[in-house]
Amino acid sequence: MRVGIGYDVHRLVENRRLILGGVEISYHLGLLGHSDADVLTHAIIDAILGAAALGDIGTHFPDTDDRYEGMDSFIFLRDTVLKVKAGGYQIENIDSTVIAQRPKLAPYISEMRARLAKTLDIAVAQINVKATTAEELGVVGEGKAIVAHAIACLSQL
Ligand code: MG
Repeated sequence: MRVGIGYDVHRLVENRRLILGGVEISYHLGLLGHSDADVLTHAIIDAILGAAALGDIGTHFPDTDDRYEGMDSFIFLRDTVLKVKAGGYQIENIDSTVIAQRPKLAPYISEMRARLAKTLDIAVAQINVKATTAEELGVVGEGKAIVAHAIACLSQL
């Protein structure tokens, strides 16, 4: 068994779509980033890469590369799964937490899990997504950013 952690943060701004776990969320602000800025998917990618000791999202998909501008992060996620499988690993389970003061994410969690599971090529029971607020503390609590944490467990094929 091998375990990896992932963390990411993106700033909330106007005139951007809000994508979390591959799901578009109805909100007047979106996350700023080179790709679609799906902070949850980025944290999950880093957790998976970390467990396989394959570096991080920035080395595999650099934000200096114009090919990745506005990119759907699920393309990175799919590529990450293929990389770890090629390295002889399979995903046992993933757990994650999104920290957002607003909007309420509970209505979207099951769709996030279903979409993530499909792209990760695992069962829905192998991926968990939790959402919490920051109790109005700090930049996340002020609604200026969204943070995500993830942990992945891989086993040798
Ligand atoms: Mg990111």
